[in-house]
Amino acid sequence: TKWVYTFGDGAAEGRAGDRNLLGGKGANLAEMCSLGLPVPPGFTITTEVCNAFYANGRTYPDGLQTELSEALNHIGRITGRVFGDPEKLLLVSVRSGARASMPGMMDTVLNLGLNDVTVEALAADSGDARFAYDSYRRFIQMYSDVVMGLEHEVFEEILQEEKARLGHELDTELSAAEWQEVIALYKAKVEEELGKPFPQDPKEQLWGAIGAVFSSWMNHRAITYRRLHDIPESWGTAVNVQAMVFGNMGDTSATGVAFTRNPSTGEKALYGEFLVNAQGEDVVAGIRTPQNITEAARVAAGSDRPSLQKLMPEAFASFTKISEQLEKHYRDMQDLEFTIERGKLWMLQTRSGKRTAKAALKIAVDMAAEGLITTDEAVTRIDPASLDQLLHPTIDPKAERHIIATGLPASPGAATGEIVFSSNEAEEMRAIGKKVILVRIETSPEDIHGMHAAEGILTTRGGMTSHAAVVARGMGKPCVSGAGSLRVDYKAGTLTAMGKTFHKGDVITIDGGNGQVLKGAVPMLQPELSGDFASIMEWADKIRRMKVRANAETPADARMARSFGAEGIGLCRTEHMFFEDDRILAMREMILADTENGRRAALAKLLPMQRSDFVELFEIMAGLPVTIRLLDPPLHEFLPKTDHEIAEVASAMGVSPDKLRQRTDLLHEFNPMLGHRGCRLAISYPEIAEMQARAIFEAAVEAGKQTGNPVVPEIMVPLVGLVKELDYVKASIDAVAKSVMEETGVKVEYLTGTMIELPRAAIRAHMIAETAEFFSFGTNDLTQTTFGISRDDAASFLETYRQKGIIDQDPFVSLDVEGVGELVRIGAEKGRSTRPSLKLGICGEHGGDPASIHFCEEVGLDYVSCSPFRVPIARLAAAQAAV
Ligand code: PEP
Ligand code: MG
Repeated sequence: TKWVYTFGDGAAEGRAGDRNLLGGKGANLAEMCSLGLPVPPGFTITTEVCNAFYANGRTYPDGLQTELSEALNHIGRITGRVFGDPEKLLLVSVRSGARASMPGMMDTVLNLGLNDVTVEALAADSGDARFAYDSYRRFIQMYSDVVMGLEHEVFEEILQEEKARLGHELDTELSAAEWQEVIALYKAKVEEELGKPFPQDPKEQLWGAIGAVFSSWMNHRAITYRRLHDIPESWGTAVNVQAMVFGNMGDTSATGVAFTRNPSTGEKALYGEFLVNAQGEDVVAGIRTPQNITEAARVAAGSDRPSLQKLMPEAFASFTKISEQLEKHYRDMQDLEFTIERGKLWMLQTRSGKRTAKAALKIAVDMAAEGLITTDEAVTRIDPASLDQLLHPTIDPKAERHIIATGLPASPGAATGEIVFSSNEAEEMRAIGKKVILVRIETSPEDIHGMHAAEGILTTRGGMTSHAAVVARGMGKPCVSGAGSLRVDYKAGTLTAMGKTFHKGDVITIDGGNGQVLKGAVPMLQPELSGDFASIMEWADKIRRMKVRANAETPADARMARSFGAEGIGLCRTEHMFFEDDRILAMREMILADTENGRRAALAKLLPMQRSDFVELFEIMAGLPVTIRLLDPPLHEFLPKTDHEIAEVASAMGVSPDKLRQRTDLLHEFNPMLGHRGCRLAISYPEIAEMQARAIFEAAVEAGKQTGNPVVPEIMVPLVGLVKELDYVKASIDAVAKSVMEETGVKVEYLTGTMIELPRAAIRAHMIAETAEFFSFGTNDLTQTTFGISRDDAASFLETYRQKGIIDQDPFVSLDVEGVGELVRIGAEKGRSTRPSLKLGICGEHGGDPASIHFCEEVGLDYVSCSPFRVPIARLAAAQAAV
């Protein structure tokens, strides 16, 4: 095996494609060399060495030492220098470089090779003693920190004291002699803290730095970063060793970072910052304020400090040329690092630059227009999940923020409203036209109506998969969860933050994009859905095969879904239509009636309401398919709970509250999610399904007349496990259809299908498909029943599972392809085996998750259905899955 790859002087052993072996930085350094760009010569120790290092008890593979010596000679030949030789001093930098960039994860050691002797050589060589001692003290500081584990602050403290003593404000004011004093203090400190002197042998220093980089692969920061970004441990990191170039060699030297286009707006203009007479870490450390690279940016920023363009026009000209060349070569916006040593430009890094969602859209669309990439490529350049940032109002970046607490960014977007502490209050306030933020310690399924009524949700407990977070994301409502520094007192009706108390009715703003809770109202920017966004969506729509529908039941959601490009409704959860005030009463009467006649009387009140709901949905969706699901949830969700509610229902039904309470007790279930719900309701109480079917058909007739478009409703039966369940319910649907057609004299086409949300249904899909004309995979329940994990209680322990590495992702968020996905695959194949024309879709939360959408494409589903705010994400993800 070859462990070390060299580069320099217009040639390299590696290339950009070797990222797995050489890491991102190493591969791109090699590529830049091959392009003939000015890159300090060096070499990359491969990621395989990292893996071998860990496989063999933190020791190096045979042969590495020899290859490394040869590679040092390679640098020596190009530079005319010798590592460790004070006569022909060669200093190097040592940097980590993993396959995926892991910003800030591992550190860098610069100026390696300096010691008490070579520092004198550097002084003589450069003719600048001040520079030499400054470099040496930087080296001691960095090396002690990165390799020997001595906190950076220890040295900062010494430096601050010295500066104070000498009456200096800036580092640049220290003279050579003064730096020498600092160095003496630093070295003494190392010896005092670590019980051994600072290493003087350059070889020992080099191996120390290499070992530190490999060891940092398993440090806490790196492990956490990998977990958060799904980076496998097996990738390992590479180590890059390069001849030093100095940005701190006086006023003709500089160092900086730049993007080939603006990473926050996407504007096509070189964008970056630099510092004169500085080394890389100064730019990052933020001690000195960097200057703008271009004149245009300097003017825009209103800065009176000169730009690089003005200060070093020649270096600037080469840098501009190179940045254009690199962008063309990589066909993407690049993030560059450079150093100018006494007027000569050196490139230290290039990679694809991170950018905001807005910039990503603009850059992709612009590059397609420039002919740099195709429109198909432009579509693949956008992270679908990032679109979430664009679909919600956001806080004006120029606005002032009075932060009172910070929680988790659980659901994006910003919202302002008056504080309310209960879901009922939220609804009441909403009813009188107020905008509210629902503030809860945590939320439960009983808060759905309050969450619906609120502009945004704030909880003090719970993580990213808490009930509040998941439901809010589904609704597209901003949510900040787990803001633990806030105290909510329901009794007193107060929210306390940093010693300040807020009451019901006080206005706050939440920023679901970063988790901030702000005092008062803050200016907002509305989402921009035209322009670049529209172009990308249009291109995506041309590519994708799967249709995208929305899960929606209210007219507002249905309209929003259409505006986001939904091609129909894939799931109308009719139970959500019964929660509103006047309806819940009739619903409760229906459930609590103990005779069929009593139920029918209550259902008769519900029928016109259901019918008008459906008419409206059909009209909004004119001509597009609408899937309506028969009543699904356990009955107990509708039961009156408080004394007031019980009294209200009892009086409406003309029974005593006590009698009513007996009846509600009777309906209690131990395991409601596995209880009397779904088609089981339609089988126990056929009159409910009949009423719903009647409402659907009558609405179809009416909407058909009004719009002139025949409506083809799709009626969906939930929670089927046995084909006989479906047969039973379908028989009554067909009977109602026949009656309505006879009564109205209008023929209505319709489809009857089922959800596949129980393992048995997937396994017996070929039988079920003999009756069902379509399947919609209900992957929420299918996940619940496949894992045997309650979807309402999972958040508390799934987070622990994730932290302990037992699962990578919450299976309720991203489809468990191996398990639940296998059932989907089986269901799809078996279903089509008996009914080739079977229409297949998915309507669980996963229908809006990009990774799950890829899987849906793979198994050949016809459509995905998701909450309205996820529709654009799904359109883009479906296109990417089809490319
Ligand atoms: C499902 O189970 O995936 C589904 C869409 O139905 P619900 O979430 O309403 O149970
Ligand atoms: Mg379900």
